[in-house]
Amino acid sequence: MDTQMLIGSKFEKGTETEEPILNPKTGATILNLPEANPAQIEAAVAAAEQAFVLWSRTTPAQRSGYLLKIADRIEAEANEFAALEALNCGKPINAVLNDEIPAIVDCYRFFAGAVRSMPGVLAGEYLPGHTSMVRRDAIGIVASIAPWNYPLMMMAWKLAPAIAGGNTVVFKPSEQTPLTALKLATILAEILPEGVVNVVLGRGDSVGNTLINHPKVNMISITGDVATGKKVLQAAAKSVKRTHLELGGKAPVIVFDDADLGAVVNGLRAFGYYNAGQDCTAACRIYAGKKIYDKLVADLSSAVSTIKYNRPDDTENEIGPLISRRQRDRVSSFVERASELKHIEITTGGKPGEGSGFYYQPTVVAGALQEDEIVRREVFGPVVSITRFSEVDEAVKWANDSDYGLASSVWTKDVSRAMATAARLQYGCTWINTHFMLTNEMPHGGVKQSGYGKDMSLYALEDYTAVRHVMVAHG
Ligand code: NAD
Repeated sequence: MDTQMLIGSKFEKGTETEEPILNPKTGATILNLPEANPAQIEAAVAAAEQAFVLWSRTTPAQRSGYLLKIADRIEAEANEFAALEALNCGKPINAVLNDEIPAIVDCYRFFAGAVRSMPGVLAGEYLPGHTSMVRRDAIGIVASIAPWNYPLMMMAWKLAPAIAGGNTVVFKPSEQTPLTALKLATILAEILPEGVVNVVLGRGDSVGNTLINHPKVNMISITGDVATGKKVLQAAAKSVKRTHLELGGKAPVIVFDDADLGAVVNGLRAFGYYNAGQDCTAACRIYAGKKIYDKLVADLSSAVSTIKYNRPDDTENEIGPLISRRQRDRVSSFVERASELKHIEITTGGKPGEGSGFYYQPTVVAGALQEDEIVRREVFGPVVSITRFSEVDEAVKWANDSDYGLASSVWTKDVSRAMATAARLQYGCTWINTHFMLTNEMPHGGVKQSGYGKDMSLYALEDYTAVRHVMVAHG
């Protein structure tokens, strides 16, 4: 197992506070990893600064070549990466191997192609006797900070557009899930020039905080909690750094009476509980029309009660445990508070799983009202609430009545109603008759307090590059 940070071309262990890295399936400690000391963080930023001089002057084709090599190596070592991610996050091995790794490999390949064909406005004589052109250039050193729910995928979403755009990076994985980042670091050190990507370990309020406040860091890219995003903005304000924020979500799902009930139930069973609901786009806040409501509650509850987890043969598992005891207890407390309300019925689940792992039963909370905490706050666990609505205006109003604005979906057989409703939703993404489906060509990111950074797609390359105007006066 790779346990060392990558600073320039050197592999080093941290020397500060040790973080226990846990196996969420058992609660056992896999190993302890010390975090970086201030001199190591400084050295990582210095290595990125030095690497920027040459890296920012490579051609798109050259950077593309590096990205393709990274993709090939991850693909070739898919089994090892998947095993490590499954161990560190408790994810079912098949979910990592069949869903995540192909999407991660494709992310590097997408940006390898995209950077060679970025579109833009035409050069021309917009003032007589002067030729103007627009460039998109690298921003500089990016401090990239990732969460624990999809460690290797978040690393891909952050690294690929950043280095494709000519930037250099100091990457910090979540202190809870650093193992795949450390493995990838050994590959990056073989493929990339020294210092283009550096990987440091540590907690948010120590190493993360040093990075976001570092005067030489030009851009901060973070995926995490809204509260963390706000701290990033405060830090960024001091020296006006660019920020790329991907924060939380609480995705509304509007199910009209004419929706295909079977498809809705299958969809919600999959997309409400994938990754044990630790997903900022999870289909967790259902608004069901008054005619379909009862049947949806009954069918969804019975479908959710069949979700397989905590089986000894991991290939049978559909979901894993939560990432930590703390997260499991947090989810549990949300459901306990909800179940104390008279109008709420827990129709399946509602309890922590058995054993020492951090499991929580897949849960349906029926009869929830718009003002309930379970409808308003991000639970980040395998818990879906269902609320009955009467009119479309009510559903849209409730769906939009949230501080979050990341993802949403609409389920109906009526295409006009689908389009009219999608147009009114204040979310970075609206799916129709599906949920959760992502593709590297399309942007992923929020509005409102879900942040404004766009991952994947050409929009991410725009986020990680600066628009510049160059004008030549004709002599
Ligand atoms: P978190 O905000 O606690 O941590 C995210 C990362 O930020 C970690 O690496 C952490 O060490 C670091 N961090 C924390 N405080 C920091 C500080 N003061 N300065 C610098 N870095 C700091 O979030 P989490 O619990 O790891 O992840 C779950 C959250 O991430 C959820 O809210 C979820 O919705 C969100 N998320 C959003 C997206 C998206 O695309 N919008 C994707 C995945 C997760």
